[in-house]
Amino acid sequence: MSVKFIDVKEPVLKKGKHYLTSDYKTRGTRKSHNGMDMIGENHSIDDVIAIDDGKVITSTYSSSAGYYVEIKHANNYISRYLHMKKNSIKVKKNENVKKGQVLGRMGNTGDSNGTHLHFAVSDNKKTPQDPLPYLLGEKNFKSDYFKEFVKNIQKSLGAKVDGIPGKETLSKTITVSETTNRKHKVVKYLQEYLYVLGYTEIGKADGIAGPKFTVSVKNFQKDNGCVVDGVITKQNKTWKVLLKLI
Ligand SMILES: [Zn+2]
Repeated sequence: MSVKFIDVKEPVLKKGKHYLTSDYKTRGTRKSHNGMDMIGENHSIDDVIAIDDGKVITSTYSSSAGYYVEIKHANNYISRYLHMKKNSIKVKKNENVKKGQVLGRMGNTGDSNGTHLHFAVSDNKKTPQDPLPYLLGEKNFKSDYFKEFVKNIQKSLGAKVDGIPGKETLSKTITVSETTNRKHKVVKYLQEYLYVLGYTEIGKADGIAGPKFTVSVKNFQKDNGCVVDGVITKQNKTWKVLLKLI
């Protein structure tokens, strides 16, 4: 494809000029591409910077990705920066990085033809996400997951879907536990959200509230000053805390 300028709000190149050379394509298309390839203005070489605060989880070399860095953010989503120049990487694994911090220099290492940055985003289960909304500031690595969670909850409960929880949403909430509404639509979203919050005991979001679900709910309740009973209800205030209404 031809080079296309993108007016990013959240840069990953220090000079702030991002030109797209290869777009993100999801599975099912002829050739999938799990990130976006970018170059600087007039093919200039630029420093690669962190899109948001986070913790470096990978800073290494692979024959395909070249020298690359992966950062885990507050919502457990991961941003990835590939093909950086040899010996240019400035961050180490487990290091906390700030938004805008230089990670290294654009390069041509690994499976790459020509100096560029391959920027990619994946969710907490390493499923690739379209990076564009993150670059445009339409989605971010802090709060957007909450909004998505709220919308899914509202949809599942038949409440008004606006991503903003309030009394109306709360009034539609139901009790969820191993014995009550254990297969309700809402369970899958609760599982996903608790996982994202770090309650990983819950495991895969299979839509069924089983023993692992109870463990994660109890841990969430413990951390948030709720009655620790593994049951999500309005009465024990777990719903209120989950919806940030308290
Ligand atoms: Zn690429």
